[in-house]
Amino acid sequence: MINFNVPPYVGEEENYIAQAIAARKISGDGEFTKKCSKWFEARTGACKVMLTTSCTHATEMAALLCHIKPGDEVIMPSFTFVSTANAFVLRGARVVFVDVRPDTMNIDENLIECAITPKTKAIVPVHYAGVACEMDTIMDIAHRYNLSVIEDAAQGVESKYKDRVLGTIGDYGCYSFHETKNYSMGEGGALLINHADRIEEAEIIREKGTNRSKFFRGQIDKYTWADHGSSYLPSELNAAYLWAQLNKAQDIYDDRMNSWKIYAQSLKTLEEKECISLPYVPEECVHNAHMFYIKARDLQERTELISFLKDAGISAVFHYIPLHSAPAGKRYGRFHGEDVFTTRESERLVRLPLYYGLKCSEVEYVCDKIQEFYENR
Ligand SMILES: *Cc1c(COP(=O)(O)O)cnc(C)c1O
Repeated sequence: MINFNVPPYVGEEENYIAQAIAARKISGDGEFTKKCSKWFEARTGACKVMLTTSCTHATEMAALLCHIKPGDEVIMPSFTFVSTANAFVLRGARVVFVDVRPDTMNIDENLIECAITPKTKAIVPVHYAGVACEMDTIMDIAHRYNLSVIEDAAQGVESKYKDRVLGTIGDYGCYSFHETKNYSMGEGGALLINHADRIEEAEIIREKGTNRSKFFRGQIDKYTWADHGSSYLPSELNAAYLWAQLNKAQDIYDDRMNSWKIYAQSLKTLEEKECISLPYVPEECVHNAHMFYIKARDLQERTELISFLKDAGISAVFHYIPLHSAPAGKRYGRFHGEDVFTTRESERLVRLPLYYGLKCSEVEYVCDKIQEFYENR
């Protein structure tokens, strides 16, 4: 059986978790959390990187930091995970979905401007499969209309757009360290803050609405309830798991990229024969091998392919049901313009197994089976 995903594990996780336990520091913001945050700050150049309990929570923090209020509108693609929308719906915002580009499955940057109304407050580009959205265009629109940009870079950790790290281009960036992502801590994420003057409010929101971070730095002599907030800081046990992964970040990246390249190479002839489509990576984007997907002709062919692969012991999956067609999507949002690609392309998409430690022979076996499926049609 070839699983779709196996959580990344490098071998040092237990050691670091044991160190956190021995240090009698298992709640949040201990040494491991600091090490992970510093690692990302050095790596990304973001003003501040705060570990959070999930990418969902990082996005909720961003929505709070943008002061999203009931009635505000937020523009995003419909082809994304529910958390991208829920973080803003929780603040009372209305979600305005626009169509995706069929080549990258990212928001179509050319459709954003006409979806803007006087109520629009933010744009949320989702870097699907770790391939960047057209950020220059998006940032230009945001500046002209004075909108916040929150990058959903859940899948884009270590990816780049024109030499800039994803998550550092907008006002805020959100990372995920869920077990299905490139680097994991079980459940967890990070908020990247790209303006120094937003850090203090973020610290307060993350620490239950208290100014405890300032207190720990010795800047005030007692801490108190300062503003609204919640508990968005992860346990040291989870941060210790992530620290093991970050020490092996290059290995994890190389291993995933190797699998990704075998898929791309082996499936090229099927694309040339116009049986399937392969992912497209624009020249200005450096991706992180988060995902390998192919597109079948239509929904029926995809269903047959997934079932054929299942019979061959291969777990291939699809996502997402477009949010605007879901019950909550209808309640909390609207689709601006025409859904030309979102539904049609989402119904064609199949994700193939890809995880740290997947063997070359297994990738080749998956490719062989896909070839076999198309030979018999
Ligand atoms: C995984 C993912 C999330 C949610 O991440 P969690 O850490 O599980 O909250 C949000 N957006 C996208 C695009 C994702 O892929």
